[in-house]
Amino acid sequence: MSTKVDAIVIGAGPYGLAVGSSLREAGANVRVFGETMSFWTRHMPSDMWLRSIWSASHIGDPTSSLNLASFERAKGIPLRRPIPLSDFVAYGHWFQARALPDVDQRLVKRVETNGGALRVITSDDEAVDARRVVVAGGIAPFAARPQMFDALPRELASHSADHADLAPFAGRRVVVIGGGQSAIETAVLLREHGAEVEVMMRARRLQWVGRAPREGLIGHLLFDRTDVGPALISQLVAHPMLVRALPRAIQREATRRALAPGASLWLRPRLGGLVISPGRSVVDVARRGSEVTIRLDDGSSRTVDHVLMGTGYRIDIRRYPFLARGLLERVRHVDGHPVLGAGFESSVPGLHFVGAPALYSFGPLLRFVAGTEFAARRVTMHVKGARSAQRGTERAVELPGAAN
Ligand SMILES: Cc1cc2nc3c(=O)[nH]c(=O)nc-3n(C[C@H](O)[C@H](O)[C@H](O)COP(=O)(O)OP(=O)(O)OC[C@H]3O[C@@H](n4cnc5c(N)ncnc54)[C@H](O)[C@@H]3O)c2cc1C
Repeated sequence: MSTKVDAIVIGAGPYGLAVGSSLREAGANVRVFGETMSFWTRHMPSDMWLRSIWSASHIGDPTSSLNLASFERAKGIPLRRPIPLSDFVAYGHWFQARALPDVDQRLVKRVETNGGALRVITSDDEAVDARRVVVAGGIAPFAARPQMFDALPRELASHSADHADLAPFAGRRVVVIGGGQSAIETAVLLREHGAEVEVMMRARRLQWVGRAPREGLIGHLLFDRTDVGPALISQLVAHPMLVRALPRAIQREATRRALAPGASLWLRPRLGGLVISPGRSVVDVARRGSEVTIRLDDGSSRTVDHVLMGTGYRIDIRRYPFLARGLLERVRHVDGHPVLGAGFESSVPGLHFVGAPALYSFGPLLRFVAGTEFAARRVTMHVKGARSAQRGTERAVELPGAAN
C-alpha cells in the first residue's frame, strides 16, 4: 500500500525547511523527511561559529516572519555575532516547529519511479508516491577524502565532517590539511582544546575573508546581503537567474572566486601559536603503529597521532545513497552536478535538487543558507505554474471545444 502526496522533500536542513514551508504555504500537500538540522549537529564542531554573517543566515520563508530577528525576539536575549553554531541549530528547530511541525524524522531509503509518479521508500519500508520529489539532502555524502589516506583507519585519519566534538584530541599531535574556513576553524578549536596542531595548506598564504566593510554605502555597493564572494562578485552571485544566463566561462570564474578558500577574519586573534605551513602538499603517508608519518613535497616529514582532513566537499549526486540506479541514469548531470531548469527540476520530470548540487545551474549562492530563499521561491513558482497548467489541461479535456 502507498499514499500519494503533491510533493516530498528529502532533508530537514535549511534548504528542506525553506522549500517545504514555502510549498505548504502555497497550498501543496507536502511531506518533509529527515532529521532536523542533523548535518549541523553531527558533522560540524559543536563550538564553531558560522562564517556567514547575520543577513546571510536567515532560512528563507515566504512570510519573512521566521527570520533570525524573529527568533532572537522570541528567545528574548540578543544572539552573538558571529552566530554560534548552537544558536543556529536552535533557530533551525524553532523554524521547523513553526513552519513544519510534522517533519517526519525518518530517513529515506530509496527514491524510484513508479509509473508516472516518483516513489519514496522510508527506512522502515513505507512507500509514499508523489508528483514531485525535492532532494535537499545536503553535502554529507560528498566529503572529499584524499585517496592516499584510504588505507588508514578513522582513529588515525579522518575528515572534518567526522567530528562534532574535538575535545578527545586534547594532548594529541594533529596535522590539519586545508586552508579554508573549516580547516582553520577546526585547527583553532583543536588548539583551544589542548591539541598540538600544525596546518598544512597548498596555498602560499592564508586568505582572510571579511576585511572590507559590509556596512555603510560602500559596503552595500560592494557586497549583497547574501555575502557570497568578494566585492562586486557578491552582487553578481546574489542573482542566480543572471548567473545562469552568463557564458559558462564567466560562471566558472565567478564560482571559483566566490568559493576560494579563506578563513574569517574573526579567527585571526585566536590563531595564537598555531603553526601554519603554507605552500606544502602531502606526497606520502605511512602508518607506524598508533602514529602516522606524512612526507611533504619539500622532503620534510611529520609524525603525528592524527591527520584531520579539512579538504572540503566534492559535489556528486551519484553519492546520494537513496537515488535508485535506474533513476540516476536518467538525471542529466555534468560531473555529478545535475543540470536543472529554472524551477530546479532535473531531466527527470518531477525530480528537483536544491542546495549545493544546484551550484552548476545557479551558481555559488546555492551552497549557502543565503540561497534558501531563492530556491524555495523558484521551486514554489514552478510547482504552482505546473499545477495551473495541469488544471487548464484538465478543464480542456473535460470541456472539449472550450478553447475554440
Ligand atoms: C564546517 C562547515 C561550516 C559551514 N558554515 C556555513 C555558514 O556559516 N553559513 C552557510 O550558509 N553555510 C555554511 N556551511 C555550508 C552548509 O553546509 C550549507 O549551507 C547548508 O548545510 C545547506 O543546507 P542543506 O539543507 O542543503 O543541507 P544540510 O543542512 O546538510 O541538510 C541536509 C538534510 O538532509 C537530511 N538527509 C540526508 N539524507 C537523507 C535521507 N536519506 N533521508 C532523509 N533525510 C536525509 C539530513 O538529515 C539533513 O537534515 C558550512 C559547511 C560546513 C561543512
